Amino acid sequence: MNAALAKWAAHGLCAQTDPDEFFPDKGGSVATAKRLCLGCEVRQDCLDYALATGEQHGIWGGTTVRERQRLTAQPLGGAA
Ligand code: SF4
Repeated sequence: MNAALAKWAAHGLCAQTDPDEFFPDKGGSVATAKRLCLGCEVRQDCLDYALATGEQHGIWGGTTVRERQRLTAQPLGGAA
């Protein structure tokens, strides 16, 4: 585990639950993982980490890979 991840990951709710919920098989439900993320105290740290590292698998900060791709595809500063 790298230092950036180590700072907050141990405080995540997923550290106390089944990690498979956060890395479901293709087509598997992500509802349980996303629900847990909603109440996680390090959710923003987790999402920031996933966006910064381009995580391509699993639920991070309550988001799926596709949701993270949409977040990073949006232009900065908004439309005029
Ligand atoms: S936001 Fe979700 S995936 Fe991230 S640490 Fe918390 S429970 Fe785990």
